[in-house]
Amino acid sequence: MFQGLSEKLQETFKKLRGKGKLNEADVTAAMREVRMALLEADVNFKVVKDFVAKVKERAVGAEVLESLSPAQQVVKIVHEELIALMGGAESKIQISPKPPTIIMLVGLQGAGKTTHAAKLASLLKKQGKHPLMVACDIYRPAAVKQLEVLGEQIKVPVFAQAGRAAAEIARAGAESALRQGADVLIIDTAGRLHINEELMGELQEIKAQVQPQEILLVVDAMTGQDAVNVAETFHARLGLDGVILTKLDGDTRGGAALSVRAVTGCPIKFAGVGEKIEALEAFYPDRMASRILG
Ligand code: GDP
Repeated sequence: MFQGLSEKLQETFKKLRGKGKLNEADVTAAMREVRMALLEADVNFKVVKDFVAKVKERAVGAEVLESLSPAQQVVKIVHEELIALMGGAESKIQISPKPPTIIMLVGLQGAGKTTHAAKLASLLKKQGKHPLMVACDIYRPAAVKQLEVLGEQIKVPVFAQAGRAAAEIARAGAESALRQGADVLIIDTAGRLHINEELMGELQEIKAQVQPQEILLVVDAMTGQDAVNVAETFHARLGLDGVILTKLDGDTRGGAALSVRAVTGCPIKFAGVGEKIEALEAFYPDRMASRILG
């Protein structure tokens, strides 16, 4: 994960360590390299600018330049600021005191919505919950089938209805959850290749019908800054509660993971790290920062 970025940052810090005592010019040179590394990792330009300014301001302070191990202090500051960039602490999903908790997954086609509906259902089931999944991707019969197959695999029921509008299915699903005693409802919605009015309108209708506790955007980390643009648009139209960043197991450069929170204000709540059902992790900014710094 983020191999290129990790290697570049490690190289930069190695040079700093070799110097012993640092002066402002050393810090400036190191920050120029950090800036390049982040830009190459496809981190949003403004996010990089603010990040480097913050680190530099702290790193040229007396506490660092006059300390016994200035290079280590700089690494510590970068680590802390990376954590802050990704939102600080872990951000959990909100469980409603009055069941069912309704979680709506939205996103573009192929981002991993259907897969992550099942991953999330499986995770919550392991935590003692009784999920019900609702198939609202009515345009692709294969998507309904895919959710049903996954449901069978993880022993989680799936609610589907043919010939009705997505918002009606979602509402009927919520009523079915009450009858069945399901305490979490996970709604899989339709995606498109690109954002369009029709899609947004449909998602807004579903939201209005069931008023979810959590609207989570499922977005492919491999798409870098595009993922951030998609997140901005969905957030403006629907008001997102969080993001599930998928395909972090692939050869992603890190741009989406490092920019989404800063640009949209939405926390990343989960990371998808593979095609298997178990390949879902809670997103911990501190662990991610440690992975990046190696
Ligand atoms: P949807 O159109 O948004 O519902 O996307 P799908 O759930 O059908 O996923 C699209 C493809 O991405 C499938 O082939 C999934 O197996 C794959 N996929 C989903 N999540 C991940 C992930 O975290 N890592 C990897 N490597 N593949 C994933």
